[in-house]
Amino acid sequence: MYDYAIIGGGILGLASAYRLLRERPNARLVLIDKEQALARHQSGHNSGVIHAGVYYQPGSAKARLCKQGAERTVRFCEQYGIAYERCGKLIVATDAEEQQRLEGLEQRVIANGLDYETVSAERLREIEPEITGVAALLIPASGIVDYKRICARLAELILERGGEIRLGAPVRAIREGDAEITVLTNKGDFTARTLIACTGLQADRIAKMSGLDIDFRVVPFRGEYYKISAARGELVNRLIYPVPNPSLPFLGVHLTRVIDGSLTVGPNAVLSFGRETYGANFPVPRDMADMMSFPGFYKLMARFAAAGLYELRGSLSKRVYLERCRKYCPILALDDLEPMEPGIRAQTVSSDGRLIDDFLFLETARSLHVCNAPSPAATSALPIADEIVSRALRKAN
Ligand SMILES: Cc1cc2nc3c(=O)[nH]c(=O)nc-3n(C[C@H](O)[C@H](O)[C@H](O)COP(=O)(O)OP(=O)(O)OC[C@H]3O[C@@H](n4cnc5c(N)ncnc54)[C@H](O)[C@@H]3O)c2cc1C
Repeated sequence: MYDYAIIGGGILGLASAYRLLRERPNARLVLIDKEQALARHQSGHNSGVIHAGVYYQPGSAKARLCKQGAERTVRFCEQYGIAYERCGKLIVATDAEEQQRLEGLEQRVIANGLDYETVSAERLREIEPEITGVAALLIPASGIVDYKRICARLAELILERGGEIRLGAPVRAIREGDAEITVLTNKGDFTARTLIACTGLQADRIAKMSGLDIDFRVVPFRGEYYKISAARGELVNRLIYPVPNPSLPFLGVHLTRVIDGSLTVGPNAVLSFGRETYGANFPVPRDMADMMSFPGFYKLMARFAAAGLYELRGSLSKRVYLERCRKYCPILALDDLEPMEPGIRAQTVSSDGRLIDDFLFLETARSLHVCNAPSPAATSALPIADEIVSRALRKAN
């Protein structure tokens, strides 16, 4: 019998296992993932940005955990020799309307206690000659890292501390008793006193396996990127973001420096017809059926019809996608955009069609489920894991 079983070898499952073994060095712990390698889903398919915490509602868990998470991610990288860079980020307004929204965002930056600089159009040209805008905000604390490297290091630390990691073990069922909980996989059964599930795109299905009566679904949103051709050289020195549309939870297509020296543009946010389809967006019958049988899905579609069409147009036409980037980076040409694997976001949607914004935890007597952990959950993984572990320890006591 294990003390703790964790489902999910993404950054949240791994960070939680690492934290648990620091809190309880003698605990017997197993981490289970269905894939043959760790970080195969969101944690291995993201923009690699260490977010500073600009956008989030002041005082919210997201705002607090992001700011702490950015600091802790940097410290973790320094401690374990993982490459990162605090390159800073520019949020660029390209017209008067965006400038007005940028001023609103500045108030949020102040309320969230972040350092920043306002940047005039002239200064913008000096510091980023290829970027055009009427005004910008510079956030020096934003940075870049490869979250797969963080996951790999967390896994080593878990193994060094006596934890077990079982890969290629999809969880098929969960049976909860009074004194223990058993996770059934095709690689055997794992019985523990407490279960933690951090299963991202499958979080609703795993919660249901635990007998939770849920009124939400995970709706997958593809984030499509292009790699910027190496021939462009070092186009930008910082991360370049548009001013986000306040009615959408996604940040808009941005130019992102990658820690390996390359540059990407993206991600957009298009409905995905499968939860784990990284190739063409072909429908997966089970995923489609889950979406179509959920009333919240239709309400969501109705609410975001215009935004959905806007995103779809950019997805179907590389030229349209390019035009959106050219608004702030006019030098980019069609040939500069090279295909790249997308990421897929696990977006939890409520039965009334709302996109659930904040982190969502649900519990049974012996299990804790992370049911919504959208961006910036990679940045915030270490403090989110503290929260998960303190809840799990309360359960175990
Ligand atoms: C396109 C995109 C861009 C993003 N950019 C950023 C960014 O720049 N900065 C940032 O901070 N955040 C970003 N995010 C968000 C961030 O990547 C996620 O919030 C974070 O990775 C979530 O981690 P997780 O561990 O919850 O989920 P995941 O990484 O998805 O891990 C879930 C794990 O559960 C496993 N699993 C699922 N079902 C089962 C089962 N039945 N049995 C066994 N195992 C199972 C899966 O195999 C997977 O390994 C981005 C996300 C996307 C998709």
